[in-house]
Amino acid sequence: MDHFLYRNGALHAEDVALADIAATVGTPFYCYSTATLTRHYHLFTEALSPLPHMVCFAIKSLSNLAVLKTLGDLGAGMDVVSGGEYLRAKAAGVPGSRIVFSGVGKTREEMRLALGGGIRQFNVESEPEMRALSEVASSMGVIAPITVRVNPDVDARTHEKIATGKKENKFGIPIARASEVYAEAARLPGLEVIGIDVHIGSQLTELEPFEQAYLKVADLTHRLRAEGHDIRRLDLGGGLGIPYERSNSAPPLPLEYGALIKRTVGDLGCEIEIEPGRLISGNAGILVSRVIYVKEGEGRDFLILDAAMNDLVRPSMYGAHHDIVPVVEPEPAIEAQPYDVVGPVCETGDTFAKARPLPPLAEGDLVAFRSAGAYGAVMASEYNTRPLIPEVLVKGDHFAVIRARPTFDEILNRDTIPEWL
Ligand SMILES: *Cc1c(COP(=O)(O)O)cnc(C)c1O
Repeated sequence: MDHFLYRNGALHAEDVALADIAATVGTPFYCYSTATLTRHYHLFTEALSPLPHMVCFAIKSLSNLAVLKTLGDLGAGMDVVSGGEYLRAKAAGVPGSRIVFSGVGKTREEMRLALGGGIRQFNVESEPEMRALSEVASSMGVIAPITVRVNPDVDARTHEKIATGKKENKFGIPIARASEVYAEAARLPGLEVIGIDVHIGSQLTELEPFEQAYLKVADLTHRLRAEGHDIRRLDLGGGLGIPYERSNSAPPLPLEYGALIKRTVGDLGCEIEIEPGRLISGNAGILVSRVIYVKEGEGRDFLILDAAMNDLVRPSMYGAHHDIVPVVEPEPAIEAQPYDVVGPVCETGDTFAKARPLPPLAEGDLVAFRSAGAYGAVMASEYNTRPLIPEVLVKGDHFAVIRARPTFDEILNRDTIPEWL
């Protein structure tokens, strides 16, 4: 459920008409709903209660400071995968004690940054990383709390680019080698082993792969405890999928996911951590764009929008589907017609949808891409020197620009022409 609904024939974000935002900030733009972000965060906390737990929002899915502050103020932790994301979490007012550092290639500078500013734990992904972290922590006279990310060799049955839990993926250490790796971690002077971490992929639409992975984590918890490790926290990753197509069957709900967690690892006496990104941010955001031209083609019409692949890359990168809806509600009786929905970028890959049935649209009409909150703005680029598009946050009947569109001067001034040229 989200808060982008038609009211009196006009698509709204909560109580604000999107056409009003478009008139103020121009198109294209991203728009996020505070009520939807809040609701999704609470779905997870409710699903995990009464287990001791922390829901750490995966910043990489949507990293605007205003969004992070919205969630942080509710008590959310943050899952970061770079020094930059760590600084975002801190800038949004989230204390280090609620920040988890994930990622396969943390640098020593990033480790120093997080150890200096405070950190809940590092999710370590390899032995070389473990040794580096121990060295950095020792040199600073501190101890780094860690979990080790294990790779359970489970098929997440999702898009190959976002499956992370098979043994051929670059993530984590093979679960079969866990005893050895944990033994080394325990010997390293700068580390304190506190738990286990697992994350098998993104946009999972079934619970089965989670179940397989979490059962393996439960086994491993017993084994590592028997080997003398004080396993007291389990980080179970993110990855729960969202319905991108309203018409399709729905992925499992957070409540069902929570029940699965309780069933598989709930009686181990561990604090549970999860790192959802997409399920919190995905349906909390839309991308609003204007039709520049309708071009008649052979056997199809092209809807040429002012948004392009550089603004929302998921369709061209993952072949992803986004529902597209007109901002003015169509009459119920109106007959849909197929459009190829494209952007202005000079690549055939700049296609959002082929033969998409839509009500008849004309130049100047506004459309909205639904479910664009996650992996939307954060993956945008300025390809074709198209300025990064603004982000807007709505709360009730008010809205604010939370990232402004850069001017062309700002863009051009980032380049320098050497004086010898
Ligand atoms: C990407 C990622 C997440 C979030 O995944 P979602 O599918 O957005 O929930 C969580 N943890 C780690 C380690 C990740 O890499």
